[in-house]
Amino acid sequence: MTRSLGQEFLRVFSTADPDRIAMTCKISTVSITYNELLVNSLKLAKKMRDIGIESGDIVGIVSENRMEYIVSIIACFYIQAIIHPINQNYLKAELQQSFDKSKPKMVFTSNVYIDNVIRLQQDTTYVETIFNFDVNYLDIIKDGIALNHIEVDTGISVERAIIMNSSGTTGYPQSVVLTQNNVYYAIESFKNQFVLYRENTKISVLPYCHIFGLMHVFGTLIQHSKLVILSKFKPDLFCEIIQEHNIVALEIIPTIATFLARSPIIDKYNLTSIKNIICGGAPLTQDIHNAIQKRFNCQVRQLYGMTETCGLAMAEFVGEKLKFGSVGKLIPKIEAKVVDPLTNEKLNCGKVGEIRLKSKMNMKEYLGNIEATLSAFDDEGFLRTGDLGYFDEDGYFFINDRLKDVIKYKGYQVLPVELEDMLMLHKDIIDAAVIGIADERAGELPMAFVVKVKNSELNEEDVKCYIADRFSINKQLHGGVKFVESIPRGNTGKILRRQLRKTD
Ligand code: AMP
Repeated sequence: MTRSLGQEFLRVFSTADPDRIAMTCKISTVSITYNELLVNSLKLAKKMRDIGIESGDIVGIVSENRMEYIVSIIACFYIQAIIHPINQNYLKAELQQSFDKSKPKMVFTSNVYIDNVIRLQQDTTYVETIFNFDVNYLDIIKDGIALNHIEVDTGISVERAIIMNSSGTTGYPQSVVLTQNNVYYAIESFKNQFVLYRENTKISVLPYCHIFGLMHVFGTLIQHSKLVILSKFKPDLFCEIIQEHNIVALEIIPTIATFLARSPIIDKYNLTSIKNIICGGAPLTQDIHNAIQKRFNCQVRQLYGMTETCGLAMAEFVGEKLKFGSVGKLIPKIEAKVVDPLTNEKLNCGKVGEIRLKSKMNMKEYLGNIEATLSAFDDEGFLRTGDLGYFDEDGYFFINDRLKDVIKYKGYQVLPVELEDMLMLHKDIIDAAVIGIADERAGELPMAFVVKVKNSELNEEDVKCYIADRFSINKQLHGGVKFVESIPRGNTGKILRRQLRKTD
């Protein structure tokens, strides 16, 4: 690819029917056309240049899903500023921990989340500009500047495009660096009819701070389709959108799948337009899979990917015969192998080992962490996914378990080590371990095993509140707290989580 992402989006928006709706916000009912998307993103890019944002600068985003979020990303692409979208629900300390690594010069935010961003600016030296979508955006788009004054960089002058938080295989918080090429190839793959079911209107509810949500937006816009944006998953509004817009395909995570399978709310609406559902981000249980298939009488597919692979690696393809429990076949141009994680020996079909991947969508690096980057790839340049699985004789992959220490709560990563480190700082706690316990709605719930000091009166509620005061909603101990005599550890001190899982 020689064109930059900015040029690519410029081409896509300029070739769309200018009056075609690009995005609608379900709650405010405001819409913008492809021409407005083009003009507004160019105006915002000009403003960013005027206030001193240059190519290669990092720009943070801390906001709910909304149209301005997408406009700001495109504007960054035009001027080759690197975006770092962050989970908007992060507390100030979590926000700072992430941004201290990337040091954004500018942060886009909204009325709801601006307080944390202001506090971050006060406590750090890197944030020069805060841009509030609810206050500053209107002034920019009202500005009648001539568009030929805005130049979009030709060719790629900055390799990095997106920074996103993830765990890495070690389980410590990392910032994944995705390049313009990574994103370009991922968009090409999402464009394939067999991955993203092509239709005129898509519901955009997956968070843009997660790679799945972001790639879904790009994959939709590139096809000149319309996004109906829901800033937060609200069951009734979600169903209303399907009914109003005769939505044919849904791209979801397992938490929404459980809602579709079990909720009585579904029966209040006519959702017969749905013909295809694809679910990714975390394992989909067989029960839920069967229940949705039966309820909607449609194809239910799985997609497997990770932030480090730009969101995509395997999928069950539209119209192909499905195999229950499988996450599908490799997307074209992706290589995979399954290896014994201890001996690195390549395993044949049917044998469970670590899945490793190689493609143009593999991340460049973990920001500022050469050691973690090196250990993420093996000698042949394959990315260690940290997932255990196998493939069958037809090339279908199945995921069995995880090697890496990460809990998936509603599709979000929760890193046990973050919670464990914090628990160990409590004066009444001698040792602690956190695991994920299975839950139909959330996938997994973080649960803590705690060894307390002798005669301490610490109870479950105290421990839960202690964590709730220090971490955002996804990282709380939704699975409860169990007091134990000791935490099982291996020779090197590593927590034996499998053993704990058996005793939960
Ligand atoms: P993230 O980087 O947050 O997208 O997390 C990626 C991880 O989510 C993968 O390494 C898997 O552990 C898990 N994951 C994603 N999709 C699936 C799926 N369809 N089935 C099972 N696990 C999945």
